[in-house]
Amino acid sequence: MSELRHHLYLILATLIAVVVLSLLIGGVQLMLVGLCCLLFLWLVGYWYHLIKLVRWLERPKLRNVPHGIGIWKNIFNTLMLQAKSRKKRKQKLGVALLRFNRIAETIPEGVLILGLDGRIQWLNHVAATHLNLNPERDSSGILVELIGSVHFQQFLNEQAPESGDMKLTIDNSGSGLPRILNIIRTPFDEQATLIITQDITAAEQLNATRTAFVANVSHELRTPLTVINGFLETLTDMPELPQEQRQSFIALMSKEGTRMRNLLADLLTLSRLENQTDISIHRQPVYLTALAEQVVHEARILSAGKHSFVCELATDIWVNGIQQDLYNAFSNLLFNAVRYTPPKGTIAIRLRSEQCQHDSWQAIFQVSDTGAGIAAEHIPHLTERFYRVDSGRSRQSGGTGLGLAIVKHALAEHSGTLQIKSVVGSGSTFSAILPQMKNDKGLDSRATHV
Ligand code: ADP
Repeated sequence: MSELRHHLYLILATLIAVVVLSLLIGGVQLMLVGLCCLLFLWLVGYWYHLIKLVRWLERPKLRNVPHGIGIWKNIFNTLMLQAKSRKKRKQKLGVALLRFNRIAETIPEGVLILGLDGRIQWLNHVAATHLNLNPERDSSGILVELIGSVHFQQFLNEQAPESGDMKLTIDNSGSGLPRILNIIRTPFDEQATLIITQDITAAEQLNATRTAFVANVSHELRTPLTVINGFLETLTDMPELPQEQRQSFIALMSKEGTRMRNLLADLLTLSRLENQTDISIHRQPVYLTALAEQVVHEARILSAGKHSFVCELATDIWVNGIQQDLYNAFSNLLFNAVRYTPPKGTIAIRLRSEQCQHDSWQAIFQVSDTGAGIAAEHIPHLTERFYRVDSGRSRQSGGTGLGLAIVKHALAEHSGTLQIKSVVGSGSTFSAILPQMKNDKGLDSRATHV
């Protein structure tokens, strides 16, 4: 303000000086001429600065702020300060926007802003993936039309002021499996609604698996318990039953009891294998040749002379692992062969070493039988818990339906795999493949067939 006053005084002083001087020198006429010249100069200066200002306003860049004199200097300085603060604000906004965009693209949830007309105003790429949308093509489309679900439409049309959520299943043409989403609707402002999408497919599947598992275990336990209860009631109600029949009932109850014990033992083994986190500390060299010999010996006892055994076990095969878990894997494979091969069948057991890459070797424990074989459609499911090709046969032979699930987990724990080949009517071959341990000379042990 003081500067403005200063300029005003300066103009007045100039005016007075011109009037007084021209009056003294040449009278009124010269004064008028002087005043006209002064006014003309003032107008030229005014227009000159005005043109500079208009030009700058057309392209208001900070580096182009014009220079001026007098009051114009003040005006241009003020403009420069404003332009500077605007530039700073713009930079800050740019950084904030960049950060927001980064956050929006990093968060695992999908975020979508929906206008009152139901059109998409903005969405991050996770929301686009979740809802099978194309960010370029659908970025201003009407969401309910793009999703095409009546439930979703009802959910969006709910006029409740507070947030709500729903489960939505989206067909996922990419992987073939439907995607299950949790959709949260939350008020954003008067003009828009915020939609958040969460992929809960894995959690839902886990839940379903858990429920099915509990149902399976209950079912598996209920059958032997019903049998035991039934016999106990009969024994209590009929004390006059002949001794022979009583003995046969007790034998059957004992068989069912053993089945329950085996089931619980398998469940515990499986649960331990599934929940084992860091097994590296428990690992130690396991001599597979001796382990295979022990399992073959036990299988012969189980077979009780009903099958012929062919054995080719290479010596000096070691893996770094957990003896008990490898025993569980090998014994389940071999005992299954005994249980599912009719009498007089042949069971072949091979343990060998094979080079897989130029410097690494793998141990292969293979069990082949001449049993009934397994149809191809069952093979991918055999390692699922409680999956049985023939439930009656499995139960009759004392199976729990968990054996191959245990094999799969025990091998996976050793970075190994299970291969199954089977031909209906000819027999099956199960191969456990494990990374072999290097011997103390830094070389892999070689197989020598015996
Ligand atoms: P189970 O306790 O029922 O044997 P497993 O998980 O060990 O359970 O095996 C799953 C199913 O795979 C069995 O029920 C059986 O139908 C089939 N199976 C496993 N091994 C053999 C085999 N050697 N020959 C034929 N079928 C087999």
